[in-house]
Amino acid sequence: MSEGSTALLKKCGIGFTNGFGKLKSEAEDFPLEIYFLRDDDIPDYVADGVADIGIVGENVLAESPQPVKTIERLGFGRCRLALAVPKGFDYKSVTDVAGMRVATSYPRILRSFFESKSVSVDIHEISGSVEIAPSIGLADAVCDLVSSGSTLFSNGLREVETVMQSEAVMVARTGLDANLASILDRLLFRIRSVKAASQNKYILLNAPTEKAAEIARILPGMKSPTMMPLADEGWVSIHSVIGESDFWEVVDSLKRAGAEGILVLSIDQMIM
Ligand code: AMP
Repeated sequence: MSEGSTALLKKCGIGFTNGFGKLKSEAEDFPLEIYFLRDDDIPDYVADGVADIGIVGENVLAESPQPVKTIERLGFGRCRLALAVPKGFDYKSVTDVAGMRVATSYPRILRSFFESKSVSVDIHEISGSVEIAPSIGLADAVCDLVSSGSTLFSNGLREVETVMQSEAVMVARTGLDANLASILDRLLFRIRSVKAASQNKYILLNAPTEKAAEIARILPGMKSPTMMPLADEGWVSIHSVIGESDFWEVVDSLKRAGAEGILVLSIDQMIM
């Protein structure tokens, strides 16, 4: 979370140094003071007004009783909170764990998950190394964060239910004054430009002039594609922006429509 947050702020043009062990830093070119805090504490600090805004995982936020509001999803730190059982356990549905001991660091989220399924379990709250709990006889199942799944696998566990999906979000305390609200607006403007840029690619291609109209229809771009004649008569260069989610489908259609020499570039900022 810390790495992702630091990278995001740097891409927003906000420079700061955070050397080893340094827990507080002043941004060089933006009115921002940055605190590096334990993720569990962030909703409390924001709710108490120690910090005006925070970057935290949705899982931590859902576990906290603090009333802070989410103002932007940030698209990094993606993971899921999952229920896992020992590999040999014959799991068919969530009722199979009724009455069992489930170890987790997220008792509040897990309790509400089982309540929504009307299943009663014995929740054991532990603060870390949750995956080891079944093998040392502390629990029958676990509920923990999963990213690649390799920690579960190497501890002889199998993921059976997704309890929640999570990613990093920006939260804010209520009642920011006009000056702070305007600083936050400037920051959100930059963050949204960085996010939009990371979800899009700049594409350049060459096409025979008679195919240009068909290719332009495949490339909606921000307004409409740029077209410039090439030095070779009968050819144009077409430039546009395409979304990353349907990138390969668009490239296939472009090739079928006669596009050649396709170049794809990353975008640093995209000001909407
Ligand atoms: P993995 O082996 O990639 O599934 O990662 C699982 C381990 O990393 C568990 O111990 C998790 O608690 C921790 N973990 C994975 N993703 C996150 C995340 N986004 N935030 C905090 N801890 C995580």
